[in-house]
Amino acid sequence: MNIVGSIRVLAPALAWMIAAAAWSCPASPEPVEKRFENNAWQFVWELKEAPTWLGVESAPIPASLQEYRDYANGQTDTDPFVLLARQRAVFEKAYGINDPSLEAFRLIERREVGRIANSSCLELMLMAEHLKFHPLNVPGSEFSARIYRKQSQLKVFASFIEHESMGAPGVAISLAQRNEIQKNAWQFTTFLHNHPFSFQNPYGDISGTVIPSDPDLVTFRSLFEAEGLQAAWITNGIHSARYQSMDTDRLLSTIGL
Ligand SMILES: [Zn+2]
Repeated sequence: MNIVGSIRVLAPALAWMIAAAAWSCPASPEPVEKRFENNAWQFVWELKEAPTWLGVESAPIPASLQEYRDYANGQTDTDPFVLLARQRAVFEKAYGINDPSLEAFRLIERREVGRIANSSCLELMLMAEHLKFHPLNVPGSEFSARIYRKQSQLKVFASFIEHESMGAPGVAISLAQRNEIQKNAWQFTTFLHNHPFSFQNPYGDISGTVIPSDPDLVTFRSLFEAEGLQAAWITNGIHSARYQSMDTDRLLSTIGL
């Protein structure tokens, strides 16, 4: 009796595993709002199926993003830890091995701080949108997004710039939208921005690392403390890093902040 019972229990589990293997990211929906403000395009998406959007990416991925990845992989080894070690070596040469800025690299490379993983479906969707503004073989720029969650729903506010920039554009949220978020207790689940590659950098620093800059860390801390942010993400379009509040504190402590 026990054996028959086990087999009956196994069958739906196997069916679930087969279904999971065939699962893919949802098709990119149109934003519910597009406006130009603060020198940037401000897009808003309202999405259902939050666990799927925030879950790990799965093939097929958007064609433009596949082209971007093929291009990047043709230029360098894009393993995120190889990229970190490569950039650390550039910094060591420039600033000396005892420079405090290098400790952040070492903590992340030793997997003591943050978590680097494959990108999520939502990151694929936003990177594909970003690539419409910045084709892959043009020096990159950054986008940023604030992602709010209420049960299985997401509100995604993303900001894209048309020009080159060393930093991410600010996300503009209207007063009415802020009130709606507060009134209905949406959780600020993720603050996301991307770090582009810079294959033409004259100093050999090709970037594309998912390590936060010092200004990133200061921004993260203020969002954790003032707005109840749950996690800060950085993607390079291939891999992504996730940082919690304690990760941010640990990294800031390396530079005495
Ligand atoms: Zn950054």
